[in-house]
Amino acid sequence: MFNKILIANRGEIACRIIKTAKKMGVLTVAVYSDADKDSLHVHIADEAIYIGPSPSRESYLLGDNVIAAAIKTGAQAIHPGYGFLSENADFCRACSAKNITFIGPPVGAIEAMGSKSAAKNIMAKANVPLVPGYHGDDQSSAILKQAADDMGYPVLLKATAGGGGKGMRQVWSEQEFAEGLAAAKREAMSSFGDDTMLVEKYLTQPRHVEIQVFCDNHKNAVYLFERDCSVQRRHQKVIEEAPAFGMNEELRAEMGESAIKSAQAIGYQGAGTVEFLLDVDGSFYFMEMNTRLQVEHPVTEMISGQDLVEWQLRVAAGEILPKTQQQLVLNGHAFEARIYAEDANNDFLPATGKLSLLQTPIESEHVRIDTGVRQGDEVSVYYDPMIAKLIVWDENRDKALKRLSKALSEYRINGVTTNIDFLYNLATSKPFIEEDIDTGFIEKNHDLIFHDNAQELLNELPIAALYLLLSIKEKALQNAQQSNDPHSPWHNTNAWRLNEAHAHSLVLAHNDTEYTVEVEQLCQSKGQGSDAHYLINIDGKQFDCQGTLTSTSSQNDGMIVNINGHRSQTTISFDDENISLYRANGVFNFTHILPDYGQLDNDDSHGGLTAPMNGTMVSVLVKAGQQVSKDQPLVIMEAMKMEHTIKAPNDGTIDEVFFQAGDMVDGGSELLSFTELTKE
Ligand code: ADP
Repeated sequence: MFNKILIANRGEIACRIIKTAKKMGVLTVAVYSDADKDSLHVHIADEAIYIGPSPSRESYLLGDNVIAAAIKTGAQAIHPGYGFLSENADFCRACSAKNITFIGPPVGAIEAMGSKSAAKNIMAKANVPLVPGYHGDDQSSAILKQAADDMGYPVLLKATAGGGGKGMRQVWSEQEFAEGLAAAKREAMSSFGDDTMLVEKYLTQPRHVEIQVFCDNHKNAVYLFERDCSVQRRHQKVIEEAPAFGMNEELRAEMGESAIKSAQAIGYQGAGTVEFLLDVDGSFYFMEMNTRLQVEHPVTEMISGQDLVEWQLRVAAGEILPKTQQQLVLNGHAFEARIYAEDANNDFLPATGKLSLLQTPIESEHVRIDTGVRQGDEVSVYYDPMIAKLIVWDENRDKALKRLSKALSEYRINGVTTNIDFLYNLATSKPFIEEDIDTGFIEKNHDLIFHDNAQELLNELPIAALYLLLSIKEKALQNAQQSNDPHSPWHNTNAWRLNEAHAHSLVLAHNDTEYTVEVEQLCQSKGQGSDAHYLINIDGKQFDCQGTLTSTSSQNDGMIVNINGHRSQTTISFDDENISLYRANGVFNFTHILPDYGQLDNDDSHGGLTAPMNGTMVSVLVKAGQQVSKDQPLVIMEAMKMEHTIKAPNDGTIDEVFFQAGDMVDGGSELLSFTELTKE
């Protein structure tokens, strides 16, 4: 075993690897950029070496700097984590030239999986099932169309050099073919400089099921079951689970054997993942092989009881695999939710900021949190804005899913916008619970996940209002108990000192819509434990509401409510003016609008016109001197496989544009200078 390894990565995965190395008695060296000098991974490693400025292409992507750090510290091996240099064949080669072990597959395996059509040819030879299709050299339109006609529509046109869903077009009929082909070729040419196309049968309801494989240098290979990663937004995984639901032993073994065949076809060593599309009829087709540790590997660890990073170190050190196929046992069910700093309601735009509050669910044998940040840390523009991976385990899917929604409701993050509500809504949605899942899940269930249903909101509003009333009452009661004169009328909360006794109104907002809630108190409760009773009127609709606050844990409040005779329980988080109700059908957020706080202009400027992340400029939609109106799209950037539109924060004029299409942009760079129209 190695004495010392270097981790060429940052964030949660660097911390994750360091943890296992420590457990194995292996010393660790971290590397860091300017932005990361106080990061968690730097603090927990035995040593840390500075490798350059914050943008990753000036630090984490510079193989030479990383190798120099390994030489300087005497690290015998480098673990690349995922992303950055993990699938870079040149880096892998450079490591071996310096006699440093690359903890990953051999160079040849990385290279073999580089091109879609080359990978398909290798897999076809190894008898691994491929989606029916054409991936030949003859690229004439007639040949491509003939292939599509022969396999039947719909078909998917894919750029062989493609990635990130670019250069891909669905074609639903013979009539659409010519136009689809032209569009796919155009996009492929502009994105990859190569418009060679594949034609594949388009599966309309596939699942993404991937197999974790492991191979050693002694010809042993095993599969550690499968993961279902069908829930994706624009081809990025959101919630993953293991095992895949609805699998039977035969299919599992068949897919597992196929994955091993794929790995062996390219002389694989170490941890790898073979991704398949699984069709409704149980047929499965090779998609690609990822030659590294995957983000979602923890769900496999939870159901197999194995530490995959430990396996990686052992294999890289020349040991044999710790278990044989027969010794591996699948136990229970696990989910992973990726907690991101991003605005799910704004096209998943990455968010940045300081994590002013970071309270996590309590870790246990059921709840695991892999993270690289602490309270007070900054989510910067430079790197992937993932805050943590929340992993839960239980003996079956149903129980594990309940753990997932509970843990999500216990997360408290202030300072940056997160996707926790989105994840909670997804995890509690009926089709997700009922396993009605394929890769189109988010698009198909958009309304359920984003809760734009006015009727549903109206049902939740009285609950939020009731909570507010009870918590104000509770606070007044506590104040009274702490004061010298507990019977003072100033601690009385029943009438709110308005002219009209026992009646008042509250204003609650959801997104930008305000709702006036008229409240009439029917009976005065005598403190905690007894039900307070109110009549609540919203938009002419009356609700008879009773409620009791039940528990006040450090994370959440609980409340039992009875609305028009329907009794239910709710978990609530409340900070300042924001109320989140964690309901069985999702999370509902409201803001309590305080009447006398003066005019707070709710247009709090959108943080200027800087790049919200590292990326590439896709198009610039405005020119210097141009007048623009609020929310007008100004530029489109692409980062992490997704396009993000930057809009005008207000009416105004563009003074200067600093980038053009195709430019690489560092997060935080000024994109445009802009003068707001001053209002008289
Ligand atoms: P990229 O490398 O551009 O991400 P992939 O070939 O990996 O492209 O496919 C990305 C996603 O597109 C898959 O996860 C799947 O959801 C969908 N997809 C790919 N091929 C097909 C197909 N033949 N039928 C249906 N969906 C597909």
